[in-house]
Amino acid sequence: MNFKVPRGTQDLLPGVTEKWQKVEEIIRELCHLYRYPEIRTPIFESTELYTRSVGDTTDIVQKEMYTFKDRGDRSLTLRPEGTAGVVRSYVEHKMFGQPDQPIKLSYLGPMFRYERQQAGRYRQFVQFGVEAIGSKDPAIDAEVISLAMNIYSKVGLQDVKLVINSLGDQEVRANHREALVNHFKPHIDEFCQDCQSRLEKNPLRILDCKVDHDHPLMATAPALTDYLNEESANYFDKVKQYLDVLGISYEVDPNLVRGLDYYNHTAFEIMSTSKGFGSITTLCGGGRYNGLVEEIGGPESPGIGFGMSIERLLLALEAEGKELNIEDQLDMYIVAMDEDAKLKAVELASSFRAKGISTELDYTDRKMKAQMKSADRKQATWVIVLGETELAEQQVAVKHMATGDQEKVPFFDLVEYLTKQKQKQMEEK
Ligand code: ATP
Ligand code: MG
Repeated sequence: MNFKVPRGTQDLLPGVTEKWQKVEEIIRELCHLYRYPEIRTPIFESTELYTRSVGDTTDIVQKEMYTFKDRGDRSLTLRPEGTAGVVRSYVEHKMFGQPDQPIKLSYLGPMFRYERQQAGRYRQFVQFGVEAIGSKDPAIDAEVISLAMNIYSKVGLQDVKLVINSLGDQEVRANHREALVNHFKPHIDEFCQDCQSRLEKNPLRILDCKVDHDHPLMATAPALTDYLNEESANYFDKVKQYLDVLGISYEVDPNLVRGLDYYNHTAFEIMSTSKGFGSITTLCGGGRYNGLVEEIGGPESPGIGFGMSIERLLLALEAEGKELNIEDQLDMYIVAMDEDAKLKAVELASSFRAKGISTELDYTDRKMKAQMKSADRKQATWVIVLGETELAEQQVAVKHMATGDQEKVPFFDLVEYLTKQKQKQMEEK
């Protein structure tokens, strides 16, 4: 038998997981600063939650969901995105009743979409996202955008651009929709099957089509921004003002529409402009959803959020040739020459680790030379070799691998000696 990871999924092995952990650490730190505590919702939800909230004209609902019946004949779906579950939980736990609004939440975890596998597109991927529910202050739109931008800058990305648009409110969308239908209808047979069915159901999504992207009618399509009413235009202006205050530059793209149906007003994407990046350049997508909470059974509570995958963030880093600053130093390797020494080695390793000194030893009964080689490969800062003499003298030479310096230290003093050395090293850095 010859098993492989399922198509569109990947094993993350040591060497790579450190990068993930580093990115997650940066994200957690920023969530702490911006005050977006973590929420963890189930990986599957009832299917109806997604068909209702994500919108039944989206790619996600039409062709990408992993839907199954459980043994109780309930239809469940592996979450394809994070917002629906978070909003469900917001309503279920009546967070709208809490005194301090908006409720700010963040999530990080696997999402599942049955998609064609290609660079930057997986069937299981990890999304980080935030939601701020219970405010329609344009300043929170800017805050959410700035948090996303900050993540990319903290991990070291430089070739990143923010694209924003306003999708207006319901009135705006209705007028614009009519203009779109008039624009595309005479030539709709030149468009893909999906677009043909979008024309009646949700013509806005034609603008987001990946197949007909270069059709000349796309460039001349009526722009949402030309249809904004006063309220929507003011809102958009305010968001832009706040972005200016935050020193965040942006591009307005009147054809930017988001994949999900529930967005209104602010829509944004953050793209990689790095030459090394493939055809999929969107790192992060987000926007405002003012009707979603009601749709899911709560009171009117306007929200805004974004989702970004860690996979694409790491791809962008690679495209820019940037390395994360990862610290994973092995402090000590203990070489043991015989069984008695091994007993001491195990005891010492435990006392080192208890004091924060990372320690490795041999578990395959190798000769001293092989153990030394191992210490070398693992780039240990220090090595000690325990044998008969060391046990008799109750002391051992601590060898600093980089310099070759050695110092004899009594066993009882080892932990303190190493702790001090480590501190000194950190201060030097
Ligand atoms: P795309 O246009 O790339 O299909 P989308 O509109 O489907 O994106 P969203 O639903 O807005 O994407 O998801 C937000 C973010 O999640 C994307 O910007 C991207 O970072 C990430 N993402 C979406 N689908 C995948 C996937 N299949 N694999 C990896 N990351 C993904
Ligand atoms: Mg998609």
